[in-house]
Amino acid sequence: MKRLIALFLIGAFAASCQFISKSPTDVFSVNMDTSISPANDFFDYANGGWVKKTPIPADESSWGIGNIVNEENNERLKTINEEAAEHGGDSIQKKIGDFWMAGMDSSHIEKTGLKYIQPYLESINNIQTIPQFMEMVGRLYVIGIPVLMDMNVAQDDKQSDKYAFRLSQGGLGLPDRDYYFNKDSATVNVRISYAVHIANILKLLGYDSTKTRAEANSIFTFETRLAMFSRELADMRDPNKNYNKMNLVELQKLSTQIRWQPLFTAIGIKNIDSVIVGQPEFFKSLDASLTSTSIQTLKDYLTYHLVNDFSDQLPEKFGREFFSFFKSLSGAKARKPRWKRVIASEQKAMGELLGQLYVRKYFDAASKKRYEQMANEIRDAFKERIQKLTWMSDSTKQKAIVKLEAIRRKIGYPDKWKDFSAMEITNENYLLNMINANRWWTNYEISKLSKPVDREEWFMFPQTYNAYYDPSNNEIVFPAAAFIVPGFKDHDLDDAVMYGYAGASYIGHEITHGFDDQGRLYDAKGNLHNWWSTQDSAAFAQRAAMIVKQFNSYEPLPGYHINGSATQGENIADLGGIEIGIDAFKKSNAYKENKIINGFTPMERFFMGYALSWMYKSRPEALRHQLMTDVHSPAKYRVNGPFSDVNEFYKTYHLKPGDGMFVTDSLRVKIW
Ligand SMILES: [Zn+2]
Repeated sequence: MKRLIALFLIGAFAASCQFISKSPTDVFSVNMDTSISPANDFFDYANGGWVKKTPIPADESSWGIGNIVNEENNERLKTINEEAAEHGGDSIQKKIGDFWMAGMDSSHIEKTGLKYIQPYLESINNIQTIPQFMEMVGRLYVIGIPVLMDMNVAQDDKQSDKYAFRLSQGGLGLPDRDYYFNKDSATVNVRISYAVHIANILKLLGYDSTKTRAEANSIFTFETRLAMFSRELADMRDPNKNYNKMNLVELQKLSTQIRWQPLFTAIGIKNIDSVIVGQPEFFKSLDASLTSTSIQTLKDYLTYHLVNDFSDQLPEKFGREFFSFFKSLSGAKARKPRWKRVIASEQKAMGELLGQLYVRKYFDAASKKRYEQMANEIRDAFKERIQKLTWMSDSTKQKAIVKLEAIRRKIGYPDKWKDFSAMEITNENYLLNMINANRWWTNYEISKLSKPVDREEWFMFPQTYNAYYDPSNNEIVFPAAAFIVPGFKDHDLDDAVMYGYAGASYIGHEITHGFDDQGRLYDAKGNLHNWWSTQDSAAFAQRAAMIVKQFNSYEPLPGYHINGSATQGENIADLGGIEIGIDAFKKSNAYKENKIINGFTPMERFFMGYALSWMYKSRPEALRHQLMTDVHSPAKYRVNGPFSDVNEFYKTYHLKPGDGMFVTDSLRVKIW
């Protein structure tokens, strides 16, 4: 996957809707818990009422403002699909309608069973040697099944105007290496239910039921070996350490068992002279992992992943089996209805096509202007902050400003849409459509290797409630749905609220990513290239170490602390986003007019607006999952963590020693 720095990750979306406030003048009161002092726990003060009264829907693992937006968008996408299925229309609508019809046709899905992956299952069954196994790894990659390792095409970090082929650690069925080793009872239970699940899938495929447990354990042992040589989450952060460019002779030396050429040929790579290896020690370890595992286990490993990854497109018994395992990981109590699962797969297959229809119907051009202007103001505020920094030399400041001013901005939807016309989608079979879509994507990615870099490309869809900073393009990207507050029209929301909700939480956050522990290592042109003096780098690192320490101290679940090192980039972006959001806001009329609305001052509405953007709650399983795999801190700490560093917050809510949010001045983190 391309290394984007997104605002946050929502696991899975959807289910019954909980409304926030409806009155255009009162965004907050229904969500608040006024029995709590804002100085003691701002998250609970602003969102505690909502947290208390809102159940997490049975088919969700967490729930919050982003899910509510997604819920509304899911309904919109459903309408788009149903209309396309019923009336057809242009070639885009035809594709969408066909995908939808095939996906919803459960009786046909039951009837066709494994038909469209049968040739792959047979090829796997015929494997006798490791080179044949490797060729199969390539063939499965082509249809969207990543096994043994991750492969992708992305801009070369050190030459952002060229694409490069990347090899990274991968091949695990559990979400992170730590799931294979942590000793707490919850993680042990996940491992047990994973092994049972693998055995059940093999049983459904007709394996001899007396042997499936042993086979499942062998697959698990193989994955544990892969995990053993995989880097921890925090060790994936340093872009220099995860960039090891080598020619094919050097690559071959890493592992003698892997013949790369047949694998490259299988995935359609013709001529490359170099690759970027993320984690060389992982590839070095593959030799021993492969030779110490029986061919039968390697075959079963491929079979399991092929079937499991397509379980949603297969007869119900496969999807139900997957869910029986997934619930131990996510805590969700029920499966999502078919229509929502079809939309999720459709987004993966051709989300940008849905986006084209989505913006035709729902895009608000006036709001685009509003946030473009806000982005300009926030960028200017950041520039002033850089100029005033006491810890950075003038020469580094100048380069930082050059980079800041070069940041590209994309808001709403792409100027140039991807061309999906060659993707083969019919109303006949869901699994076949998904295989074809994945094949199209592999071809799309691999063909980049012979093309110039396309900086117009988007890596999110217009209908996505999220945003990202892309270091290789030095750009910030905000999809059309990013700034929605559910239940409100954009023009009904006052600026004070939106400088917090959109300005700090989205725009300021993404701009700051260009200057977090990773982003700062890329220059104005998007190249991984050191533009810092040694002294300035050290001064930054010292400040970053303080935020690592601050977040290490939080313990959202008993025994599970936030990983301050892995989350530092996001926490730096949150803190920076709030600081520059405040600076920009203070220059706005909404601040200067000093109007009281619903009893709140403008600055109070700013902080409340920011907290609204992190109104979420999670099941314990999902929270543990987040703490182990996600570079984003849990929602509550994305509010209370940075607020306790921000002086304006102390002024606004009159914090004093002893208050829950109070931190001694010398320990408050100041970076940007
Ligand atoms: Zn982020």
